[in-house]
Amino acid sequence: MDYQSLLDNIFDEVNKKKERGKVADYIPELAKIAPHKFGMAFVDETGRLYTCGDAKEQFSIQSISKVLTLSLAFSILGDDLWQRVGVEPSGDPFNHLSLLEQEQGKPRNPLINAGAIVIADILVSHFENPKETLLDFVRKIANDSSISFDESVAISEKETGFRNYAAAYLIKSFGNLENDVDTVLDFYFHQCALRMSCEQLAKVFFIYANRGKCLQNNPYLNVQQVKRINALMLTCGFYDEAGEFAFEVGLPGKSGVGGGIVALLPEQFCIATWSPGLNEKGNSRLGMVALEKLTTKTGLSIF
Ligand code: GLN
Repeated sequence: MDYQSLLDNIFDEVNKKKERGKVADYIPELAKIAPHKFGMAFVDETGRLYTCGDAKEQFSIQSISKVLTLSLAFSILGDDLWQRVGVEPSGDPFNHLSLLEQEQGKPRNPLINAGAIVIADILVSHFENPKETLLDFVRKIANDSSISFDESVAISEKETGFRNYAAAYLIKSFGNLENDVDTVLDFYFHQCALRMSCEQLAKVFFIYANRGKCLQNNPYLNVQQVKRINALMLTCGFYDEAGEFAFEVGLPGKSGVGGGIVALLPEQFCIATWSPGLNEKGNSRLGMVALEKLTTKTGLSIF
C-alpha cells in the first residue's frame, strides 16, 4: 500500500476543517500551544517511517505516557500489578473521583489519572531515580536521546493539579499508596510532561504493534504483556469516549490532553497524530477524524 499518499490525502482532507476543538487550558502551559498545529507519523510492519505536517515537532504527550509507565511497572511486577489497579473501563472522565471512593482506593484501570498515580507509586518505590529510569526506558525504545521532560509543563501541572492531589490523597487514605503524595505526584507530573514528536511516538509505540520488540528488534515486553496492554488501550485509552473510538476507529490507542493520539494495528502498523484542539471528552478532535479516515479508507482495523 502507498502509505505516504494515503497519509498526505488524509492530512489534506482533515486539515481543511475549521472546527478544530479547544486547546486544554486547565494546565496553563498547555494553553500556549498554537491550535493550527497538525502532524502525523506512521510506521509500517517493516519499520518504515512515513510523516506529514508537524510530525517532527515535540509536544507534551500527557496521558499517552500512562501506557509507558504501565509497561515499565508491568515488566517489574508481572500480574501482581493487578492487585493494586483494575482492568475495567471507567466510563468516566480521566480525572473523575467518585468511583475511587466507592471502590476503596483501587482505581478502575491504569489509564485514568487515579490508576496512573498508583503506577507512579510503584515506580517510585522500585527505582532509586524513577524519572531517569523512565527517560532511559523511552529513549532506548526510540533509539533517541533527545526525549526529555518539559519542566515548565511539570511545574504548571504541580501548581494546578488539584484533582490529582485529591485522587492521590484518597488512594493514600485507603492504603493503596506507599510513598508520600508529593513525591508520587512529582513523578506523575513529569511523566505527563514528557515532550515527544509524532515521529518519536510512532517509533516507541511500534513495540505494541511488534509483539514487544522495538524497531531495532530488542525485546521490551513479552507477547502476553503486549496483549494485555493493547486490550487496556482499546477498552480504556479514551476514558468515557473509549466506546466511540473503538466504534469509529477500531484500534487500540491512547490520547493525551496535549492533543496527541497513538493507535496501532498489531503486526501491521503504528500511527501517531497531533492536533492540540480537543473535543469535549479531552481527546484530539482532528486526530480522531484522521484515524477514522485511515481505518475506513484502508479497511484495516482489529475488527
Ligand atoms: N496531566 C494531565 C492530568 O493529570 C493528563 C490528562 C490527560 O492527558 N488526559 O490531568
